[in-house]
Amino acid sequence: SLLLDGKVAVITGGAGLNGLGFATARMLTAQGARIAILDLAQANPAGAAAELGPQHIGLVANVTDKASCDAAAAEILKQLGRIDVLVNNAGITQPRKTLDITGADYDAVLDVSLRGTLYMSQAVIPAMQQQKSGSIVCISSVSAQRGGGILGGPHYSAAKAGVLGLARAMAREYGADNIRVNCITPGLIATDINKGKIPEDRRAAILESIPLGCIGEPNDVAGCVVFLASDLSKYCTGVTLDVNGGMLI
Ligand code: NAD
Repeated sequence: SLLLDGKVAVITGGAGLNGLGFATARMLTAQGARIAILDLAQANPAGAAAELGPQHIGLVANVTDKASCDAAAAEILKQLGRIDVLVNNAGITQPRKTLDITGADYDAVLDVSLRGTLYMSQAVIPAMQQQKSGSIVCISSVSAQRGGGILGGPHYSAAKAGVLGLARAMAREYGADNIRVNCITPGLIATDINKGKIPEDRRAAILESIPLGCIGEPNDVAGCVVFLASDLSKYCTGVTLDVNGGMLI
């Protein structure tokens, strides 16, 4: 049988067809899951869900808005009946130096990655507690670990490091409910977030710093989400899975 037969997985920020979220949605459907893609209206989550097939749904939701997260979770429970997996994938980045970060920049970046992870987790945990099972996968970043990314600013590193702490705390708090919470820290993955933004003169140096010698593909992250979402990882909680081609060795 498939790894996620009968399971329902929610993916935030999953509507971009070239993004990590949509690649994850595809791989989870291949393992039998029904999917709810949540994203901003402009990203067309219903259109993305239609690409996956008729048993999947797409809902407009803004993860920075608690009422929007709660409404999305209620609608998913109404339409799909349960929530087994949450992938906190929505995130934005901004190339900034420390002295250039405005309050508005800080709010924008922290709100999507960190506040959004909290609000969506709050929205699905009660259903997972009732089921006595659930897997929450949070997409952090290598930027959290190496203090500065290739493209994100310090506020992005802070937001993604915050996600690691939040996830570990939730893992500790909800272990007794059999809700697992784990993180993935992707390195440089080819998606729209960085498309065309890697300066040509830095490209060789960046590749040199990656032992596997290449930039990652969305499916490299998606495969690890499948592992953390499924019972293959049923004794893993509070872990951080690095998916970076060896960048931190
Ligand atoms: P992406 O820009 O394609 O995906 C981000 C998605 O989040 C978009 O669909 C966007 O519409 C959505 N989003 C933004 N604000 C939102 C909000 N308020 N509510 C709901 N959805 C919102 O980029 P991606 O590379 O696929 O990024 C996915 C995740 O992976 C992000 O959290 C990103 O920080 C993280 N990440 C990416 C890389 C990389 O190299 N691509 C590396 C490390 C971490």
